[in-house]
Amino acid sequence: MTTRLDRPAPEAAGAAGVPTPEALDAVLTGPDGSGALGAEADSAERFPAELHARLADFGLSAHYVPPEHGGSLDDHERLLRLWHVVARHDVSAVVAHGKTYLGAAPVWIAGDADQTTSMAAAVLSGRAVAWGLSEPDHGADLRHGSVTAAREGDGYRVDGVKWPINNATRGDFMTLLARTGPAGSPRGHSLFLVDKAALAPGSARPRPKVATHGVRGADISGLEFAGARLPETARIGAEGTGIETVLLALQLTRTMCAALSSGAGEHALRITARFAATRLVQRRPLSARPRPAAILARCAALLAGVEAASLVAARSAHALTGEMSVTSAIVKPLAPAVTDAVISDLAELLGVRSYLVDHHEHGAFQKLSRDHQVVAVFDGSTPVNRAALAQQFPRLVRGRAGAVADTSGLAEAVALGTGPRPLDHSALTLVSRRGCTVVQALPRPVGDDGPPGLAEHVLALHDLIDQVTGLMAEIPPAALPAMPAYELAAAYELCYAGAACVHLWTACAEQHADEPLWQDGLWVRAALRALTHRMTRILRIAPPVPAPGDDELDAALTNRVAEAALHGAPVTPFGIGEAHGR
Ligand SMILES: Cc1cc2nc3c(=O)[nH]c(=O)nc-3n(C[C@H](O)[C@H](O)[C@H](O)COP(=O)(O)OP(=O)(O)OC[C@H]3O[C@@H](n4cnc5c(N)ncnc54)[C@H](O)[C@@H]3O)c2cc1C
Repeated sequence: MTTRLDRPAPEAAGAAGVPTPEALDAVLTGPDGSGALGAEADSAERFPAELHARLADFGLSAHYVPPEHGGSLDDHERLLRLWHVVARHDVSAVVAHGKTYLGAAPVWIAGDADQTTSMAAAVLSGRAVAWGLSEPDHGADLRHGSVTAAREGDGYRVDGVKWPINNATRGDFMTLLARTGPAGSPRGHSLFLVDKAALAPGSARPRPKVATHGVRGADISGLEFAGARLPETARIGAEGTGIETVLLALQLTRTMCAALSSGAGEHALRITARFAATRLVQRRPLSARPRPAAILARCAALLAGVEAASLVAARSAHALTGEMSVTSAIVKPLAPAVTDAVISDLAELLGVRSYLVDHHEHGAFQKLSRDHQVVAVFDGSTPVNRAALAQQFPRLVRGRAGAVADTSGLAEAVALGTGPRPLDHSALTLVSRRGCTVVQALPRPVGDDGPPGLAEHVLALHDLIDQVTGLMAEIPPAALPAMPAYELAAAYELCYAGAACVHLWTACAEQHADEPLWQDGLWVRAALRALTHRMTRILRIAPPVPAPGDDELDAALTNRVAEAALHGAPVTPFGIGEAHGR
């Protein structure tokens, strides 16, 4: 079998001249094939400069600029795969480099021609953009931010502190949310593009780097404005539209954060599967024991669900754009919550090696475990996103009842590896009028010629979706949702992941027929079982009755994942970081 390490080095660009995730993987892998370039910078709490330079040479920044502005951001599936590759090497590196995508996104949505042109030129030349929302006294509560931009002469005077902000010190630009109207009003803030080099000396001072539990090398610092002067032309969009633009941009950035989870999760699974296959306990490999095999299989299955949801969500930015307020609020909490649980379970299997810093694969597991914890916190925490989804429960309930769906958008969202339609930023909306096509258009099994047990798993998912949406219908709309709303949002996220698995299985099974994880529907059956079991624990109800073939799932999936891990083959069904000929 060809392994990851003995493949010929790929060209940086694929057949159509587009850089591939596989090429990026080769760029990031150290000379010994360890992929441990970030470990040293992390232990010294130093910026991951070496990896960052490699990402710059690769041209990753071009994938942050839409094609209409001269870049290569024509496919969010590709960007997701590229970030996944970086994250599986070093979450810090993607946190540091990817921030520019987040900082620039509002400009693509609401910037004028001069702003998009200058932002595109800056990003394409490798300059870094920070995203200045948080303040010491206000995190997610954007409406009450206290940094002010007061009208003065023909521009604005900015005062206050943005903190903690990624790349606040190293960044050349900051997209800044500042108050221009009444506090607490949805139209009380405006967004500005701050070119730090153009500010008067001393009017914007960096706050010191903050020590963090994970992503230790990243520049998490702040910027203190003291009478900084901005011209009127620095304002992005009309005065008072800052929060709306931020909320639209977050729909894209929150969705793409899933790559950090899938990459870290895949790394954890690969390390642990290799260990479980080779570690002998009483002369038997750990992976041959029923309990470790069941844990490994469950983790692989849940990560398959995360991958499926992430891929469909990233493609939905193009294909189901008007639903991104729902999609992003589902995927942003789903991916880190499931991946944190997976990492915790895998740590149990890895035992003491999950805890050692300088041993066993360069201490990669403890590092990824620390690094990944931030994904659930930044760019909108898990509770913040669940509260946002709860606001849209009535539409999701109606959408499920009426089986409302954009079928052509869905077909495009699940056609992995095909170029999606251009992203129309003007189609992003604050609420999804249709609800969620991915869940609402879940197909029902037809005939019995599929893999054994798959039809039963799909029917169990349908039944749970009905139960979850039934309970959602009983939740009264409220500005401050009560506890059950958060639990139902978490359950709905799992409905989405399950539906994404079924859609991708239906669309892609034929083209993957030769791959071990796809044979007999292994991954999709295991993923549906793991996702529905997790859902029933949230709902405090009994899990679905076992489907035919469930008895053999754990051993079969564990064997195939362990085999893949030993040979450098994809350990997850979509080989999300693999090039797949793109
Ligand atoms: C490594 C790192 C990088 C960061 N990078 C950036 C950056 O580049 N730009 C930037 O602007 N910020 C950045 N942040 C800040 C981060 O996004 C904030 O910490 C985040 O907004 C959450 O704010 P908070 O927890 O400080 O406070 P709060 O928002 O006050 O939250 C306090 C608690 O209340 C919960 N909560 C808040 N609102 C709600 C709600 N509506 N419903 C339910 N629960 C709620 C939160 O989940 C949290 O548990 C970064 C933080 C870290 C750690």
